[in-house]
Amino acid sequence: MTLKHPKRPPSRRSHLSLAPLFTREADRIPRHELAAGEMDPDVAYQVIHDELLLDGNSRMNLATFVSTWMEPQAIRLMTECFDKNMIDKDEYPQTAELEMRCVGILSRLWRAPDAEQATGCSTTGSSEAAMLGGLALKRRWQQRRAAEGKPAEKPNLVMGINVQICWEKFANYWDVEMRLVPMEGDRFHLSAEEAVKLCDENTIGVVAILGSTFDGSYEPVAEICRALDELQERTGVDVPVHVDGASGGFIAPFVDPELEWDFRLPRVASINTSGHKYGLVFPGVGWIVWRDADALPEDLIFWVNYLGDNMPTFALNFSRPGAQIVAQYYNFLRLGFDGYRKVQGYAREVATRLSSEIAGLGPFRLITRGDELPVFAFTLADDVTNYSVFDVSSALRERGWQVPAYTFPKNRTDLAALRVVVRNGFGHDMADLFLDDLRRQLPHLQKHAAPVHDAGSGAGFHH
Ligand SMILES: *Cc1c(COP(=O)(O)O)cnc(C)c1O
Repeated sequence: MTLKHPKRPPSRRSHLSLAPLFTREADRIPRHELAAGEMDPDVAYQVIHDELLLDGNSRMNLATFVSTWMEPQAIRLMTECFDKNMIDKDEYPQTAELEMRCVGILSRLWRAPDAEQATGCSTTGSSEAAMLGGLALKRRWQQRRAAEGKPAEKPNLVMGINVQICWEKFANYWDVEMRLVPMEGDRFHLSAEEAVKLCDENTIGVVAILGSTFDGSYEPVAEICRALDELQERTGVDVPVHVDGASGGFIAPFVDPELEWDFRLPRVASINTSGHKYGLVFPGVGWIVWRDADALPEDLIFWVNYLGDNMPTFALNFSRPGAQIVAQYYNFLRLGFDGYRKVQGYAREVATRLSSEIAGLGPFRLITRGDELPVFAFTLADDVTNYSVFDVSSALRERGWQVPAYTFPKNRTDLAALRVVVRNGFGHDMADLFLDDLRRQLPHLQKHAAPVHDAGSGAGFHH
């Protein structure tokens, strides 16, 4: 037996064959104030959908580290979880359970000494994770100073000038002096020697980045730890290391298993990563894991009710979406170690091939090759003087490619570069399309660009 639906009453608009948005009366759609009345949902959708056409195409955005592609099954799970609030651990105990499983998985992946007792949590991204990691360092230092009967008013944090802005925010918001090691010559990130020079008894920690957003290079975490071991032997000053593995936390374990950068190094106290970068989840999810419970001071932890039990939380936000956490767990389950290894290995293969093809075009010089993070930076060869990297960036934009051009910070402000981030969803085929477009633009750049050389380097009036 089939059920018959009662006949639908004829819609008021059924006689219209034109899209309502494009045949509306002349009244304007209000943009900056609340409209007086309501609007048809299809029209509202179309208005906003159309306005967003002006956004770039995320898949052609070679500037971002953030995931722009996920499997349809992951998207379905996320849709099913949009209504779940992470903080309601009592209401959504299974989402809370998946979060703790993810912390355990990362804790194992990063070789914590006791992954059964994993200490960590999810965040909205690496920025929130950096705040939590930095706070733990600061509180531990304060407690140590108090126990020694010494003043604890002037904490400082040592890092390279190439740190992501979240560390500058941390220092600013929590009154910690930022001690930055500038770049020098061809050294574009922190070195062990320079880091140790800036450490003293007020140093709450050293931040080492895996890897740098400027050029995709890994900072020498093991060397930094060794240098700090020597510092402690020499002076008694004991400085812990936090690794900002926003990208590399999901790259190195899979494609550089020999590289020691994680909890295998006893001095590494905590590690953060962005689930929404090479964790392969849409924004926003991040993670922070501490070496062990001792690395996270008890008095930073709050307790929430969880199935009649008490569950620890450490976070800046209260309400937070659960969908991203479920999606992270989906990726872990779906890909496994080998799946992640293939995805990250492929990204690196695409990055290194693309960088070497770009080097072969002639006018460019590579700063990095994409053989650490699948991210590389390149600049113009010294003999190219009639156009700049900024012109190259604009020229690529004509075909929709977004490739950022930027100048390097202190001591290398003379250097301007372009950067390409290769992510899951950007394969060899797209790399070829990108190369074709870059190649096609070169003759135009050579011909049409206005001279950019400054007075000093011009062909000659200075004798
Ligand atoms: C992206 C990034 C951050 C900030 O991470 P979000 O997840 O965007 O908050 C911090 N540090 C490094 C090294 C990064 O690459």
